Amino acid sequence: MSNEDYYRLLGVSREAAAAEIKKAYRKLARKYHPDVNPGDKHAEERFKKISEAYDVLSDPKKREVYDAYGTYSDSFRGGAGGQAPGVDFAGFDFSGFGGSGFSDIFSQFFHGNARTAAPKRGEDLEYQVSMGFYEALKGLQTRITYARRETCQTCHGKGQSSEGRSRECALCHGSGRVTQMKGRMKFTTTCSQCGGSGRAGKACGTCQGEGRVSITDNLEIKIPPGVQTGSRIRFAGKGDAGVQGAPAGDLYIVATVGSHPFFERTGDNIYCKVPITLTEAALGAKIEVPTVDGRAMLKIPQGTQHGQKFRLRERGFPSLRAATRGDQFVEVKVVLPRIADERSKEILRELARLNPEDPRQDLFNF
Ligand SMILES: [Zn+2]
Ligand SMILES: [Zn+2]
Repeated sequence: MSNEDYYRLLGVSREAAAAEIKKAYRKLARKYHPDVNPGDKHAEERFKKISEAYDVLSDPKKREVYDAYGTYSDSFRGGAGGQAPGVDFAGFDFSGFGGSGFSDIFSQFFHGNARTAAPKRGEDLEYQVSMGFYEALKGLQTRITYARRETCQTCHGKGQSSEGRSRECALCHGSGRVTQMKGRMKFTTTCSQCGGSGRAGKACGTCQGEGRVSITDNLEIKIPPGVQTGSRIRFAGKGDAGVQGAPAGDLYIVATVGSHPFFERTGDNIYCKVPITLTEAALGAKIEVPTVDGRAMLKIPQGTQHGQKFRLRERGFPSLRAATRGDQFVEVKVVLPRIADERSKEILRELARLNPEDPRQDLFNF
């Protein structure tokens, strides 16, 4: 914080009344306002200081602190973002400044941190990979080609040419320091653009000052078994390079998995429908069913009904989260024999006589 004598800056006595301070400030502000003194760094600096002085002396509470300690520093109120940045100029009439946006001019001084030059983590990227049903089952190793931003090798991410740091830094106007607002707190920090030197070289010709360049990159990726459509696999640090030495973003591989004509997949489980004969359903049987691992034996118990489901444990997809597999569910469809001959019909009639059950009896009890 400044240890300037605010009273002297405004040219008023320590006993000056609020109205007198306001009047003095207004007069000086008109004189040193950047609109009136375009390009005059001294006037700009002066304007900044008298504004700071007025900010403190026009507020009775701040003024009291200043009078007691010879300095004043705003305390945080609600932290960053809790309050719109800016100095409280309520009650002051700026119409005399010819209609130029006062807040615009002000932000020019105090919002120096709103620059791209500040370190920033690289962006995350997404890359779509389409794969077949069995590729998702077994996992896939492939090489992808994708665009990302890499740290500029010419300027090593600084964004500035190494030749001649001759120009004045555009961010701090050569002072090496920038004043920033955080909530109601005003503080001065070393300029991030020039590192405090106040000097700047020309923008790097390779990256136009961005510190990063677009490149086409190759990456060998391993997609683990068990992904499904929409699965995101993270490759840490393979996204865009960060700005000013900040860490790189991540690359996310987003999977799209094809379907299968026979197997249906829900999560890690596989569903399928297998036909069985009336005899197999009634008497029980051991049948072969397809699985993603090849043929498997399935025991059909005596008296199996149409639509009944059987589970083949761990014949599904590998889980991405645990070292387990999903299951396969086999739904049986009882296929009735196409009977035409008299002998078969006679046997069925005999069967009906031996099993006089009525499957519809419950329908009339409601
Ligand atoms: Zn600077
Ligand atoms: Zn560069």
